[in-house]
Amino acid sequence: SKMREARVKRTKTVCTYCGVGCSFEVWTRDRHILKIEPEHGPANGISTCVKGKFGYDYVNATNRLHTPLIRKHDPKTGSDTFVEATWDEALDLIEKTFREIKEKHGPDALAFIASSKCTNEESYLMQKLARAVIGTNNIDNCSRYCQTPATMGLSRTVKYGGDSGSIADIEKAGLVIGIGTNTSESHPVLATRVKRSHKLRGQRLIVSDLRKHEMAERADLFIRPNPSTDLVWLSAVAKYTIDQGWHDAAFVEKWVNKFEEYKKSLEPFTLEFAERETGVSREHLIQIAEEIHKAKGTCILWAMGVTQHCGGSDTSTAISNLLLLTGNYGKPGTGAYPLRGHNNVQGASDFGSMPNYFPGYQFVDDPEARGKFEAAWDVTLPVKKGLDNHEMMEAIHKGELRSLYIKGEDTITSDGNANDVGQALSEVEFLVVQDISFSETAKFANVVLPASPSLEKDGTFVSTERRIQRLYRALDPLGDSLPDWQIIQLIANRLGAEWHYAHPSEIMDEIAKLTPLFAGVNYERLEGFKSLQWPVAIDGTDTPLLFTDGFPFDDGKAKFYPLSWVPPSEETSDEFDLHLNNGRLLEHFEQGAMTYRVPGIEQITPLNWLEVSPELAAERGIESGSKVELKSKWGTIRAHVLVTDRVEGKQLYMPMNSVDQPVNRLTGAHVDRATHTPAYKEVSVNMRVLSQR
Ligand code: SF4
Repeated sequence: SKMREARVKRTKTVCTYCGVGCSFEVWTRDRHILKIEPEHGPANGISTCVKGKFGYDYVNATNRLHTPLIRKHDPKTGSDTFVEATWDEALDLIEKTFREIKEKHGPDALAFIASSKCTNEESYLMQKLARAVIGTNNIDNCSRYCQTPATMGLSRTVKYGGDSGSIADIEKAGLVIGIGTNTSESHPVLATRVKRSHKLRGQRLIVSDLRKHEMAERADLFIRPNPSTDLVWLSAVAKYTIDQGWHDAAFVEKWVNKFEEYKKSLEPFTLEFAERETGVSREHLIQIAEEIHKAKGTCILWAMGVTQHCGGSDTSTAISNLLLLTGNYGKPGTGAYPLRGHNNVQGASDFGSMPNYFPGYQFVDDPEARGKFEAAWDVTLPVKKGLDNHEMMEAIHKGELRSLYIKGEDTITSDGNANDVGQALSEVEFLVVQDISFSETAKFANVVLPASPSLEKDGTFVSTERRIQRLYRALDPLGDSLPDWQIIQLIANRLGAEWHYAHPSEIMDEIAKLTPLFAGVNYERLEGFKSLQWPVAIDGTDTPLLFTDGFPFDDGKAKFYPLSWVPPSEETSDEFDLHLNNGRLLEHFEQGAMTYRVPGIEQITPLNWLEVSPELAAERGIESGSKVELKSKWGTIRAHVLVTDRVEGKQLYMPMNSVDQPVNRLTGAHVDRATHTPAYKEVSVNMRVLSQR
């Protein structure tokens, strides 16, 4: 047993699931994961949730990719098969095809999708490959599917698109408002902090959601506005606050521009109007304004119940406007908390995998920023903003985009309107998919490249609280798989670059030199459980709480951003009479590509379901276990019914975790007006009963 113990290795890592950023030691013996030991996590202390604690068997799952695969057409059978290939063969094909497409159709005929599961260094290299080697800004990441509207709302008002304080600061708030966030299932360890503060410290909790989830049950006030109308009640609360003289006039005077324009924009949002549009009573609207007025500090938490709408950016902006109005920025226990979904959705954007930004939100069309990157990389860079994920699919339909390189992203199950995305993926001339396992998207690929999950590599992630943390390699890469940064480097060098990164720390050193936001970031300062919250000054001073001394615009002031109300894109009709909502659940992550590969988790929740209200179930003569077919304008799926009062009236809810009957066959082509994030939450359907029981 001494020998067995000697083979046990303890490695510090960061959870690969949600954006809370729990860190812990993983104990391994060879490829066996023995246990997870949280001890010193700056975000989580000694806590983890079920996914972080037990969700690891996917690293050894049978569908892990061991070698590159190349699609071959068999003229005899007329069908395609995937044939195992060497790295050289796969890289030959990629090099040849990328060169041909670029020569024939120009660099903008190629596009790149980075991953929120990959490290910051990988996100940086992916955008460098697109920009410096290929010569296109066509680079995006999956925050386009979730949180880009929150980033937009914050960049319009306070500039930095991240949580304005630390998770620990939320505990200090007098009032927490959660809007469209199922926090206890989507961000469990963060939710625990709120629950504790609510229970023990008398913190007030207001929840706005369509569905009565655990946080809603606990809330002091739970409101259920009509779908997609959060902007209206937020604006009405702001107007009422000004009318009562409850706004923080001194803060606004000192720190915020455009108050008069904002005030004028709020005129239509009377209590009567808001009551009519949202269905929230006048008393409750007044109560919310009063609670904010009385509270010692208000934090607003929001997630995809806000962002995945045609007005997702506008509602996020309305949240930030309200916080500015009431002086709720720059002090502990105040501020904006757009809760990031993936472990590194924050970092993927921070480190430049975006069509309009270099790392650290430096605009590609800013000559000064561009000049700096051109000098450092010794190339001429494209000026024009690139295509986002949504525009990429459209450009494929138009024949303008010929090649797509997707890493760590199952686009077909994640993007809205799955049937249309499937069409685009079959149309694109050349598709490279790089992933840890053979995904649904890989089925469309010309070349599939085997990558390593987080436990098999070094690097850094940024959590929802802007916290940069290191992960260390606990396992060797499986088979011929390689960490994504190594694969990107191999491809770049095939295309004529001369990159010689021997370790991700060297990539971070380059980033720090080029990015003021990360000026003082290096691997030494992130050793072990040490972490840094951006912005990080060159001397290594980090910023757990933003805006303590003004806002990062030129004059040091934030901006109110006036808004107007646009009703939702898709409302219920005679043909599609029910509203369908969707979201996460505790046990699974996203479409379940990893968690369905964990036998324990799979046994607890093997099947997806559809939540139906008791009223609707009675009306349709169905019960839990009945099977139904749902149809939207965009597609059809089948599901088992679960009757529950978590949903109300003609509202349905479905977890998004199904590979087999994905909810995205029902979601449509509507997108957020400012960012093109799919309006996953604006879907009307009808329901046909297939079997009563
Ligand atoms: Fe991982 Fe999020 Fe759970 Fe923490 S709360 S263990 S980061 S999934």
